[in-house]
Amino acid sequence: MFSRLETRQIKVGNITLGHSNEVVIQSMTTTRTSNVKSTVKQILLLESYGCKLVRVAILDKNDAMSLSKIKKQVHIPLVADIHFNYKLALLAIENGADKIRINPGNITSNEEIKQIVLACKAKHIPIRIGINSGSLSKEMMESNLNSVDRMIETLKQAIKLIESFDFYDICISLKSSDANTCIEAYKKAATLFSYPLHLGLTEAGPLVESSIQSSYVLNKLLELGIGDTIRVSISGNPIDEIKVAKQILFLHELIKMPKLISCPTCGRCQTNIIKYIKVIEDYLYKINKPIKVAIMGCVVNGPGEAKDADIGVAFNKLNALLFKKGKPIKEIKHEEVIDTLLLEINNF
Ligand code: SF4
Repeated sequence: MFSRLETRQIKVGNITLGHSNEVVIQSMTTTRTSNVKSTVKQILLLESYGCKLVRVAILDKNDAMSLSKIKKQVHIPLVADIHFNYKLALLAIENGADKIRINPGNITSNEEIKQIVLACKAKHIPIRIGINSGSLSKEMMESNLNSVDRMIETLKQAIKLIESFDFYDICISLKSSDANTCIEAYKKAATLFSYPLHLGLTEAGPLVESSIQSSYVLNKLLELGIGDTIRVSISGNPIDEIKVAKQILFLHELIKMPKLISCPTCGRCQTNIIKYIKVIEDYLYKINKPIKVAIMGCVVNGPGEAKDADIGVAFNKLNALLFKKGKPIKEIKHEEVIDTLLLEINNF
């Protein structure tokens, strides 16, 4: 467990970010926000896996006006993601957004930013200054500064402007698709400002690529105590973003969750255990108990190699051996494995 840098505390809907509050896992919907039904469905699913904050893209008036309908049907705060058009931010605020994300690279008018800030101030809504190394202002892109300093300079200017309106409910992100740029930018920002930091590597690729690269970035920063909220950005199913984010926080002892121990299978395995692993894995992400569950491919090595597990099964061709802390309990049929494990997990 690493001690976290103390940042300013900000309220986002029903959660509090920063200071010593838990590191919040967030994701972003992949649906069109104006499609209220599918957006609500996806948010509820994300919630069930442990997503605590969700960002939705606001492309037009319909998206912004849908926020009020979506909000009534979900339980986690909504962050309205705004690019280019400050009027959409105002409309999103009017329609119940819990936080506004702006990119200072594409809303550059001081007057427009002022209007967003004043509207947020009136409703006590925080603003995320979401800087992205690939979408800085033209002037900044043409400067002689390196990539990290361009982001930091953009951040300094944005914070100076927003603070000039006596507004301090700010959250910061400094994303890049380059891992080391990201790390350096966040480290620098953490020494300069005490606002909560939303960590993430952006455009990080599909599941495998993003999991490895995001873990590399987030681990380095979390070990330094940096980070109040995280997103693992994946080209794919946003549920995987939550799963990977949870694993990262779990390894840093920042959350409690179940642990699944499963073998990679080998020539000794005489049945398809992957289908059992998938069902149990999915279930474990939806509960918070610190239980260790094992699914092993053979009885020869399974119970011994997974003796750390609170409950486990090791398969042979016809049956599966149920064991607890490495000790055999009973043999069960393959078709009983899922129900037996779920019962044991629920009774733990
Ligand atoms: S538990 Fe058995 S099947 Fe699984 S990897 Fe080990 S030896 Fe192979």
